[in-house]
Amino acid sequence: MKTLIEAELGLSDITVKKLNGYENINYLVSSKSDKIVFKSYEPSKEIFDLVITETDALLSLQTNPNNLTPSPLAFLDGSFVKTLKIEGQDLICRALTFLEGDFMVDVAHTKEMIHSFGTELAKLDVELQLFNSYITKSRVWEWDLQYFLLNEKYLSDVQNVQDRKVIHYFLQQFKQEVIPLIPELRKQVIHNDANDWNVLCNDKEITGLIDFGDLAHSMLISELAIAISYVCFEKEKPLDWAEMMVNAYHSVIPLEEKELKVLYYLIIARLCTSILNSSHSRKMNPENKYASVSEVSALKSLHQWLRINPIGAENRFRNATGLKPVFTPNVSALISDRHQFMSPLVSLSYKEPIHMMRSAFQYMYDAAGNTYLDAYNNIPHVGHSHPSVVEAGQKQMAILNTNTRYVYPQLAEYASKLLSKFPSVLTKVYFVNSGSAASDLAIRIAKVHTGHENIMVMEHGYHGHTQASTDISDYKFNHPKGQGKKAHILKATIPDNYRGEYARKEKAGELYANDTINQLNASSDKVAAFITEPIVGCGGQVPLAHGYLSKIYPAIREQGGVCISDEVQTGFGRLGEVYWGFEQHNVIPDIVVIGKPMGNSHPMGAVICTEEIASSFGEGVEFFSSFGGNPVSCAIGSAVLDVIDEEDLQENAKNVGLYYQSLFNDLKKKYPCIGDVRGAGLFIGVEIVHEKSRKPNTELAHKIKNELRNRFILISTDGPFDNVIKTKPPMCFSKENAKEVVEMIGDVLAENN
Ligand code: PMP
Repeated sequence: MKTLIEAELGLSDITVKKLNGYENINYLVSSKSDKIVFKSYEPSKEIFDLVITETDALLSLQTNPNNLTPSPLAFLDGSFVKTLKIEGQDLICRALTFLEGDFMVDVAHTKEMIHSFGTELAKLDVELQLFNSYITKSRVWEWDLQYFLLNEKYLSDVQNVQDRKVIHYFLQQFKQEVIPLIPELRKQVIHNDANDWNVLCNDKEITGLIDFGDLAHSMLISELAIAISYVCFEKEKPLDWAEMMVNAYHSVIPLEEKELKVLYYLIIARLCTSILNSSHSRKMNPENKYASVSEVSALKSLHQWLRINPIGAENRFRNATGLKPVFTPNVSALISDRHQFMSPLVSLSYKEPIHMMRSAFQYMYDAAGNTYLDAYNNIPHVGHSHPSVVEAGQKQMAILNTNTRYVYPQLAEYASKLLSKFPSVLTKVYFVNSGSAASDLAIRIAKVHTGHENIMVMEHGYHGHTQASTDISDYKFNHPKGQGKKAHILKATIPDNYRGEYARKEKAGELYANDTINQLNASSDKVAAFITEPIVGCGGQVPLAHGYLSKIYPAIREQGGVCISDEVQTGFGRLGEVYWGFEQHNVIPDIVVIGKPMGNSHPMGAVICTEEIASSFGEGVEFFSSFGGNPVSCAIGSAVLDVIDEEDLQENAKNVGLYYQSLFNDLKKKYPCIGDVRGAGLFIGVEIVHEKSRKPNTELAHKIKNELRNRFILISTDGPFDNVIKTKPPMCFSKENAKEVVEMIGDVLAENN
């Protein structure tokens, strides 16, 4: 090697040291007076052309005496690139001057350094504007952000499901937010890899930019995006550093508004490219450690960016270039527009309602640029805008959406997948579009099947907004402004283990059940159905006392009635230990009502029942729902079931739920205003009371709710006194998220003391 380099470059007395490279092998060549980098590549026509182009670009940059790039060195025959035989193998070779300096990755970043980096990078791009090459123009490959979607094929190589879903989400966002703008963005040759292993510096400024192997004819803004991706590694506040970079770059090349619009997504696209390629390289060649050198930091950074509202990021980038925020939110104007057309009966959350713009998993983004941690919404069960669910819906919507009067395989496929989650006696399903429609239908089916009229319902229960479901919802009919209890409704006392008559008594469940059974038997008409949730949500997340349902169910059946479990809130693994709430009580209902999480926010509901019940209902008039069971809903519902399994979300609900409750219980020891912590998995209620009397403290509960909203955490309150803090977040909620919520409630309580 030494002899060959000496002969080819006309050097003497050199030492040669091998350096690591991503794909090729490099050598550091030292002579008495100079240092040289000698590069070698596996031979191919494509690589040869690229190396020639890179060399041409570097040669053109040398015309500026202030350039910070390495200079290509000619071989003795005058060529800059040539094929040489090294250790018996033909390799493409070239040599460059060695630049002194520390790698930016190895030193602590300072504001001065970042300013120098941003301006030098822009100056390089000014020079590169003069360089044109058909080789770079025609190159289509994974590391050019305009072709980011080429990396989608590596998604399945990402082993960690939490990482994979976030990357999938950003691939989808890229399609929607960036791809349509690409034709309008400025393009030129760019370095395309200004990561901080390729940047040299002293303690104040940048001294060198190396490795032009990724040169691309691409969007100019990609240059800055790539640099920002790496600059933000291991930074507590990435946007502060990103803003500095934008400001510096903009001082040399003024940025356009549309470039600032896509910058957030391009920064993240580069992180995803890096992670996807290292995942793929690891699969192909587990020995190549260099390929995953930035993976840990990139993943950390990816999850950090997910918590940054894209609108907030764009506003910061705009601020760095002297522009006003992209959007001036006006919540009160939106509210007054809404009230012009809609009754205030359609309520809004919080004293200060929020104008939501976007969402991702357990985060929601408002119009002002804030990110909210969603500790409340259970409808986006597997996470807001989950990419697998979105994709399933988008794909099917583009192909066919019709109704159950036609035949399509998605219907039976989904029905069978859904029913496989139920005990084997529950064999038939009717699809509708909401929990209300499902409750309404369940009652109709029960009446047809039994020929009875009476319905026994749970105190404080809620089952929907249709007339029939309002009739069975004490939460609504018993409201001071409600319609009152209809004659055919029997109301069971809620078997509450915190407040009720038998609270904290041994066998409380049985004692409550005995009273209810007496009430049932005292009625002159037989009951058609008994309906309850296993944990009464609107009642303030009250779990039915243990032993209650197992006593009531036989009594209902003895009268010929059927037992309905409303799993709209508690189903699909939310309770952690069990997939359905009734399983906690060792009972199997005759009919189950489901909704909310079923379509992860796509409107879906269903009634599941036994063969026998379905067959008596089948003797009546046709059942048809225009939208129930349509192929798009089936595709979405099916994707939801898959994601719950793939991401092990039931297990997550169990683990995070236990931890979450333990944190609340610790807080309860400190603050006696926390009267009770209850629920299961990620379905938790925290009852706020007056310290000594244990009377409901609605005012404090509301204060906590609104203060948390002001600090960007979403929770709500419910219960007959609206004093129970309700938290039932998307099932991907993490322990860190749980800690954040409880700490924030702790802060509010400390301030209140
Ligand atoms: N049942 C329960 C237990 C519910 O919580 C709800 C909605 N809050 C419903 C039924 C009605 O569902 P929807 O709003 O989808 O009609």
